[in-house]
Order: sequence, then structure tokens, then C-alpha cells
Amino acid sequence: MSECIFCRISAGDVPADVVAQDEDFVAFRDARPLAPVHLLVIPRSHVASLDEAEELSAEASARALAFLAATARSAGVAETGYRVITNTGPDAGQEVMHLHWHVIGGTRLGGMA
Ligand code: AMP
Repeated sequence: MSECIFCRISAGDVPADVVAQDEDFVAFRDARPLAPVHLLVIPRSHVASLDEAEELSAEASARALAFLAATARSAGVAETGYRVITNTGPDAGQEVMHLHWHVIGGTRLGGMA
């Protein structure tokens, strides 16, 4: 069994509050939400970070942005706005070494500084 927590969520071996999924991606609620809407979108295939994005299949790469947008839309934040963040590596504080996008919204977000 994979030791990667997000691989285990993708496989259904670890429970998560899944809000959307298809053959390439899973979206679920962050366990420590920073805002009323805080989702994580992951590719099903294990890619450690954005720095290894070339390891994603061409099809998954091509569909990633549309899946993110559809996830935000179904979470109800498309009209009010939202932020997508990908922490990559130590300086960004990446905790889970499986590529993921945070989709954060549902409130007026502060500045990026
Ligand atoms: P990052 O710093 O970008 O690697 O953030 C990892 C995120 O994953 C954090 O916001 C955690 O709260 C979240 N997280 C870690 N484990 C789980 C889990 N089992 N279910 C949901 N969210 C998780």
C-alpha cells in the first residue's frame, strides 16, 4: 500500500470529504480549512510536486485547469471569486509531497503578501 496520504485518499483507502472526482483527479475538503471553502485538487497519479509536472500524463495536464474551474464552480465560488495555490518545495512550506492545488474562497481573501 502506498505511504502517500493523497494516493491513499485517491484509492479510497483513507476517508476524505470528496466533492468531485473523475478518472484523473479528485477534489476533497482540506482537513484544516483556511476559509469557508478550502478544497484540495489532486491528480490520481503520484507526482510529488509541480516541479515534476512533466510526469503527469498529457491528457491530465490538458484537463487540470478545466477540472479546477469546474470544482470551484460546483463549490459555489465562481461568481464571488477564489484563489488557487500550489505550494512547491520547502520555501513554500509544501507538507504533502503529492501535487495538489488549494482552492480557497467563500470569503474576501486578504492580500498575497
Ligand atoms: P501543503 O502545505 O500545500 O502541502 O498543504 C497540505 C494540505 O493538506 C494542508 O492544508 C493539510 O491541511 C491538508 N491535508 C493533509 N492531510 C489531509 C487529509 N488526510 N485530508 C484532508 N486534507 C489534508
